[in-house]
Amino acid sequence: MASNTKDLQEKILKLKKERKALILAHNYQIIEIQEIADFVGDSLQLARKSAESNGFEMIIFAGVKFMAEMAAVLSPAVPVYIPDPKALCPLAGYLDAEKIRKKKKEYPGVPVIVYVNTTAEAKSEADMICTSGSAVEVVESLGVDRVIFGPDANLADYVRTHTSVEIIDIDQSGHCYVHNMFDLSMLIELKEKYPESVAIAHPECPIEIQEQADMVGSTGMMARTVAESDAKVFIIATEMGMLQQLQKRHPDKTIIPMYEGAVCRQMKKHTLEKIVDVLENLPSENVVTVPEPFVPHIREILEKMNTVRGQGPATAVKAET
Ligand code: SF4
Repeated sequence: MASNTKDLQEKILKLKKERKALILAHNYQIIEIQEIADFVGDSLQLARKSAESNGFEMIIFAGVKFMAEMAAVLSPAVPVYIPDPKALCPLAGYLDAEKIRKKKKEYPGVPVIVYVNTTAEAKSEADMICTSGSAVEVVESLGVDRVIFGPDANLADYVRTHTSVEIIDIDQSGHCYVHNMFDLSMLIELKEKYPESVAIAHPECPIEIQEQADMVGSTGMMARTVAESDAKVFIIATEMGMLQQLQKRHPDKTIIPMYEGAVCRQMKKHTLEKIVDVLENLPSENVVTVPEPFVPHIREILEKMNTVRGQGPATAVKAET
């Protein structure tokens, strides 16, 4: 196997063509994977892209497993491979179907909205799905007074500050360990050092960070803001892969991490070597499937979610090679 990054990337680009593979990468992937992907984006953008896989014979999904499951549901004719099947989102682990059923019994008739960061089994119990970029719009689209919501308690707080709809947490302890690493003192210190900066926080961050940031939004919204704003310095509170991408795309701007240790170990399980292995050997254990009984309902609520506009751009960005 070729030993250096450039050789591996060239090998992937060649194999990708031969295999007619569509490579989708999440914003939190290592930059070397983002560089060889066809599209890089947030979970909403990648879900939309995976539904447009006509003409491809396989999808390689460099993200965590729940994202690859959405691609499998939206693109049933094309097999979806994940470079490392152990790339599981710990936030998704907070919510199982039983917890949702219990909450439904407690609040009969109240609709359930789950964040996309959930397993297929949990989604099968939901009335609607949202992403961080579409959560407020999805909640309001139902036209009800209250909703059951989970698993991310920080995202629930974000939604509460933007709607009068009552948000009932399924599990108040649900959180993303990466976005929970940010501390208000980090933001205060950086704001003092860079008073001209724009601070943008992801809605999975604790509420006190959201309250003090200049803007709060999904990674799709962050990409759009940095591209369109006249500001030159940005303090960003999200996973480091996103910051590397922003700095690469905007060398004229300064992207400052709120905390450099904000790295998602699960997203980083994917490597160029593992993508080469998938392209060369098509290992069956890397194919992502969703249990058949769940598929029609999940497809329906994913398609419903895709019709809600949300804050991100309509399509993912074409990766730069
Ligand atoms: S960054 Fe957080 S929410 Fe995203 S995959 Fe990693 S653990 Fe899950």
